[in-house]
Amino acid sequence: MVAPTPPHRHASTVVEEAEHQRARALADDADGLRNTSAQRALGVANEAIEIARRLGDAELLARALATRSVCQRNLSDPVAASQSASEAVRLYAELGDTENEAHALINQGIAVSLMGQMSEALSIFERARHLYRNIDNRVGEADALMDIAVVYNMLGDDERAISLYGELLPIYESLQDHYHVATTLNNLAFARITRGMRLAEGDDSDTAQTLYREAIPECERALALASSSDQPDFIVICLNTLSTAWRELGEYARCFETLERQLGLARALDGRRMEAVTLANLGEVQRRTGALAAAIVTLEASDRIYSTFQLTEQHSHLLVSLVAAYESAGRLAEALAAHRRYHRIETQMKTAAAAEKMQVLQARLDLEKLESALAVAQHRQAELAELNAQLHSVDREKSRLLEQLERQSFEDSLTGLHNRRSLDARLCADLRRTHRYQSKLSVALGDIDFFKRINDQLSHAIGDEVLRRIAVILRESIRATDYAARYGGEEFALVFPETPLEEAAAVCEKIRQRIASFGWEKIHPHMGGELNVTISFGVTEANSRFEKHDALVAYADALLYGAKGAGRNQVRARQPNP
Ligand code: GH3
Ligand code: MG
Ligand code: MG
Repeated sequence: MVAPTPPHRHASTVVEEAEHQRARALADDADGLRNTSAQRALGVANEAIEIARRLGDAELLARALATRSVCQRNLSDPVAASQSASEAVRLYAELGDTENEAHALINQGIAVSLMGQMSEALSIFERARHLYRNIDNRVGEADALMDIAVVYNMLGDDERAISLYGELLPIYESLQDHYHVATTLNNLAFARITRGMRLAEGDDSDTAQTLYREAIPECERALALASSSDQPDFIVICLNTLSTAWRELGEYARCFETLERQLGLARALDGRRMEAVTLANLGEVQRRTGALAAAIVTLEASDRIYSTFQLTEQHSHLLVSLVAAYESAGRLAEALAAHRRYHRIETQMKTAAAAEKMQVLQARLDLEKLESALAVAQHRQAELAELNAQLHSVDREKSRLLEQLERQSFEDSLTGLHNRRSLDARLCADLRRTHRYQSKLSVALGDIDFFKRINDQLSHAIGDEVLRRIAVILRESIRATDYAARYGGEEFALVFPETPLEEAAAVCEKIRQRIASFGWEKIHPHMGGELNVTISFGVTEANSRFEKHDALVAYADALLYGAKGAGRNQVRARQPNP
């Protein structure tokens, strides 16, 4: 941050501030140049580093060191690149700048992997991934995973690499990060090719060919995306993958064509690593196409670059080609010496520690995937619980509706008394029980007198209200074990289990009196005392004569008819002889 300059500052502070600004500008320049003109960028970065050291500006120093590391890598100097990055990592850690610490770790890891120190590289990438994870930087985490996949591939575990790239590709696609989409596609294609080569060695050339063919469109897509970026080294990398695919497919004309373009671009780069890679590829094709002398010249040129710059990572592939070329040319001593070097490099790269680290890392990744799957499952479970709760409430509502429906099917809606259906069912059961246990059962049928007049003279609504009031009186006048039903329009049935005729008749008489003396003017004030409501009853008691309940009701009805004929407003009770 640029602090505003206070007016009373003395001269030396002003000079210092100018130095800070100059160093910052240099660091900016180096950043801008590092991928296109690494050599110039390195000079500028070194100048910035010198000033930052003198001023003791740790932040600026860390930044310039990180930039220098990228320049050194681009200049194919992985040893120096690793040292610069490691110092930047330490400074960022001290400054508490986790994000830049992780970036610098990635740079350090790449340099270390180019030196062939795969176990160390894995540790560094894993540290970076952890830091990104802690600060919830998903893109950074994906980048670290990408570098881990590259190491997997270098260590010969193509399958693991392919599966990791496969997971990363949709992430970068969804982020519309074209550079990383291209990188992933290229790396995926490259892993397919190396997997194919391993399978071909094991005589599964059919699968190998399929893998090479799958790799071609991925290379071409990567190349198209790379061409629109201003990273010439990345274009060369994509071309190399493509030429390798053509080579393994045996399409040598296409391969040479691609290699020619690749070599031209590689030689124009500041660093020489891609030139070595390209020459190794070219030499191998020359060898396969029988141009043995040319192949040896090309491969030896590549070998010199790899050795000079300690670019161990791809060196062993070159040595395999070189050994084969020497052998074919009958230069067996040179073949043996190259083979020894190959062996040394392979063991250096594929140490037991690297294999172990790879296993541990994979286990950790699997665990984290499991954890996130678990989190998803828990989320789903919460959703399910919610659904279940909804289902329960729907179920409760359903039960409530069913209950209501059931009640309605047994209840008279106007009065809330049992309806005819309910009466039939209960009375039938009660009569059967009465016969079985020789117990008593009385039934009364009541009919409102001249009810038609009430409807006609007052209104149907008043008629309804009268029916409701009478229902209340009936309910209030009987015991809990008795029950009342609306039998028809203005007809009611009363059932008295365990009750002899006299008692039932007494209850009906009490009801008759209550109805007759009820203050009906409450219902219709204008009618005053004019609204007289009375009821007539027929009451009987069950005995063996009544086999079925409707016979019992019919007998009570006959008695009721008698009460009507005898002047209404009265109770007629009788039990026929059995
Ligand atoms: P009785 O003394 O001979 O029984 O004479 P009544 O007028 O009561 O007998 P009737 O059977 O001629 O008339 C019964 C009336 O009850 C006829 C019908 O309109 C009326 N009614 C039937 N169901 C309802 C109802 O739910 N509400 C109302 N307001 N009136 C009803
Ligand atoms: Mg009637
Ligand atoms: Mg009537």
